[in-house]
Amino acid sequence: MGSIRIKALDDLGARKPNFVKAPADKVSDYYGMNVFNVTEMRSHLTKDAYKAVMNAIDTGARIDRSVADQVATAMKDWAMAKGATHYTHWFQPLTGSTAEKHDAFFEPIEDGKAIERFEGSLLIQQEPDASSFPNGGIRNTFEARGYTAWDPHSPAFILGTTLCIPTIFISYTGEALDYKMPLLKVLDVIDKAATDVCKYFDKNINKVTCTLGWEQEYFLVDAALYNARPDLVMSGRALVGHISAKGQQLDDHYFGTISDRVLAYIQDFEIEALKLGIPVKTRHNEVAPNQFECAPVFEEANLAVDHNLLLMDLMEKIARKHNFRVLLHEKPFAGINGSGKHNNWSLSTNTGVNLLAPGKNPKTNLRFLTFFINTIKAIADNADVLRASIASATNDHRLGANEAPPAIVSVFIGSQLTEMLDKLEKSIQAGKMTPEDKTALKLNIGKIPQLMLDNTDRNRTSPFAFTGNKFEFRAVGSTANCSSAMLAINTLVATQLKAFTISVDARIEAGDKKDEAILKELQKLIKESKKIRFEGNGYGEEWVKEAKKRGLSNLKDTPSALQVMTSPSYIKLFEDLGILSKREVLARYEVELETYILKLQIESRVLGDMCLTNILPAAIKYQSQLITNVQGLASISGKKNNGSSAQLALIKSISEHVDRIYQYVHEMVDQRKKANKLEDTSKKAKAYCDNVKPYFDQIRYHTDKLEQIVDDQVWALPKLRELLFTK
Ligand code: ADP
Ligand code: MG
Repeated sequence: MGSIRIKALDDLGARKPNFVKAPADKVSDYYGMNVFNVTEMRSHLTKDAYKAVMNAIDTGARIDRSVADQVATAMKDWAMAKGATHYTHWFQPLTGSTAEKHDAFFEPIEDGKAIERFEGSLLIQQEPDASSFPNGGIRNTFEARGYTAWDPHSPAFILGTTLCIPTIFISYTGEALDYKMPLLKVLDVIDKAATDVCKYFDKNINKVTCTLGWEQEYFLVDAALYNARPDLVMSGRALVGHISAKGQQLDDHYFGTISDRVLAYIQDFEIEALKLGIPVKTRHNEVAPNQFECAPVFEEANLAVDHNLLLMDLMEKIARKHNFRVLLHEKPFAGINGSGKHNNWSLSTNTGVNLLAPGKNPKTNLRFLTFFINTIKAIADNADVLRASIASATNDHRLGANEAPPAIVSVFIGSQLTEMLDKLEKSIQAGKMTPEDKTALKLNIGKIPQLMLDNTDRNRTSPFAFTGNKFEFRAVGSTANCSSAMLAINTLVATQLKAFTISVDARIEAGDKKDEAILKELQKLIKESKKIRFEGNGYGEEWVKEAKKRGLSNLKDTPSALQVMTSPSYIKLFEDLGILSKREVLARYEVELETYILKLQIESRVLGDMCLTNILPAAIKYQSQLITNVQGLASISGKKNNGSSAQLALIKSISEHVDRIYQYVHEMVDQRKKANKLEDTSKKAKAYCDNVKPYFDQIRYHTDKLEQIVDDQVWALPKLRELLFTK
């Protein structure tokens, strides 16, 4: 037969699960063993050096050279004792993946000998040859250098035999070329803004940390079948393929039994993740066949982001050992669910309080309401900023496709909190509050924890939902670096919290008591942010109409969603807080668009190639067989077309589909050429979106028809039923 697909299927039959022997020790015995964490630091550093590093982590103070030397030596000794031979600055360029360039510890010295060395200067800063990372025009050739600089907030770790040091990546002129630097800045800003608000309630609060708990969804496919699909290899998604007879309609995969082969893989990457201190806790089958989810316990946001990137990397590496390939793409298969990465977001204080968890009394509940309502208002004012933060070519397939959250940003809070906000909105009267008013309000607010216990609302169609003690941003894509979403949410909330403090202080200045000032301001915010709250079905047509009436945006594709980044108000938001300059924002805009264009370009090329070199040849081959058959039948009966009407119909149908595919592929190539000639990146992205992309579906309609006609033995591409149902 010779088809790669048939060979891959044969191999599959012989595949046995590659069982993992879990370490005999308890997780607590090996958890974090590959991390140079605070405990390791304490035992390896002098007291003063340890203090200096802790101080740098807490306050951002500079680490002096002698301390850096000590830390570097300690890291090297620790890592070498664990078998490490190399070190690298591990960073997050705007490509979306992580980057590393390994250098050996050894250095040749005189007499042909060598020693192992790692100095503070190498730990603190390096200059990778980084001219080919995306920079959106920030680096001209004369200032092409980029620097990586140590981020002591996130501990160094060992991957394989390499000591990895998390770093930021900046240009020679100090501009961010990565995801981490703006994230660190915004985390600092939200800390200050939220701490100021906390002071109204508790003077002991002097630090607020942003917490992030992500939930990573992914698909697994057999490696041999994957390799026989150029589209999966090149673009991470199936560009063609008829939906299998059975998909997810029986709901039999969600929370189903995990197969031996899959479980062996999951256990394997979980063990490696746990050794790296990634607190992976939850695993389950997802809704679509061969779709799964992995979720850790939430952590401080910067660490959580690093851990997510590290986990995605581990998942890909370890999948190969099990003859699987992991698909992190947002929509690998049409017709079944795509993958997201819910970002559970909250704020927590140095006193151990979750600011989005209702408290035990009216005072702590007022604090809860303050953060809760300010967050809603922050999203309401700048929903487009949130939408832009999750825009990508791959996530476009998901948003608005009746499964994942819609492209319209709204906030869900549940019926009981809705009622509470409605009451607050109405019960606070203009002018001075009477003591009776205050008591009534306090009683009301005091009821919140009680309400929350019964709050079982779980609206899965909302992109931004309150889930009891955190907001869950569900529109984030499965391939995304969570930093983008965290940057947007925290920038918006910090801006709002700062405005809140100013307004409340002004009310106090004007004679209101503190609680009264807070309540009145909250009432105002409830009113102003009402339009963003939506409790109904986010997938329905009704909502699209209603949202339009409310004036909410429905930005369906990446070029339209990113457009906001060029607006003065967007730039002002990030500039005012000192997080990104105008130049940095516009550079990011360029990079995002560029990535969008390149992704569509790759998909379009692969699709064209597959059509011309896989699909049309298979169809024509089968058609030739049919023609031979018709000729044969005619020769034995002596009559033309005798007994071959079905064959003739098939021959005709194949020709029609072949013609259409051939025509569309050529038209698509023409559109691509036209788009490529456009100089302006945003026009080019729009041309790819509006003129090239529509051909994908048109072509697919006909390829999928052919798949249903052509002899299964002749069809070279693994089918969706094979990709999705082999375990
Ligand atoms: P689900 O949303 O699937 O029902 P959970 O509510 O238990 O599950 O939590 C989902 C995720 O939310 C987990 O990753 C968890 O760590 C995270 N999470 C829980 N509390 C917080 C918090 N305060 N801040 C950030 N993430 C949180
Ligand atoms: Mg969840």
